[in-house]
Amino acid sequence: MAMKNNDGSLTAAQLQAELNRCEYCEEKPCQVACPADCSLADFIIAARMGAPSDYRRAGALIMGANPLGWVCGVVCPGLLLHEGMCAPHV
Ligand code: SF4
Repeated sequence: MAMKNNDGSLTAAQLQAELNRCEYCEEKPCQVACPADCSLADFIIAARMGAPSDYRRAGALIMGANPLGWVCGVVCPGLLLHEGMCAPHV
């Protein structure tokens, strides 16, 4: 897989690969593990097609559920929470 961008963010190809990994689990263990009750599956599916409007819709889902979504996205210890509960991710 390609290296990350210089700022540590995922390349477009890496982001798409990550979005494609979600299996939209019926039980949504990622949401259960999120202290803010954010549905990762819903915003992943919203963003999956990769158009700017898809990312805006995904962002609206996040911010609608959690007004601190931007901050949480930066400070969230994901491996200890939702990523640790996601079977395709581990
Ligand atoms: S646990 Fe992982 S695969 Fe399942 S819905 Fe959440 S993000 Fe998608």
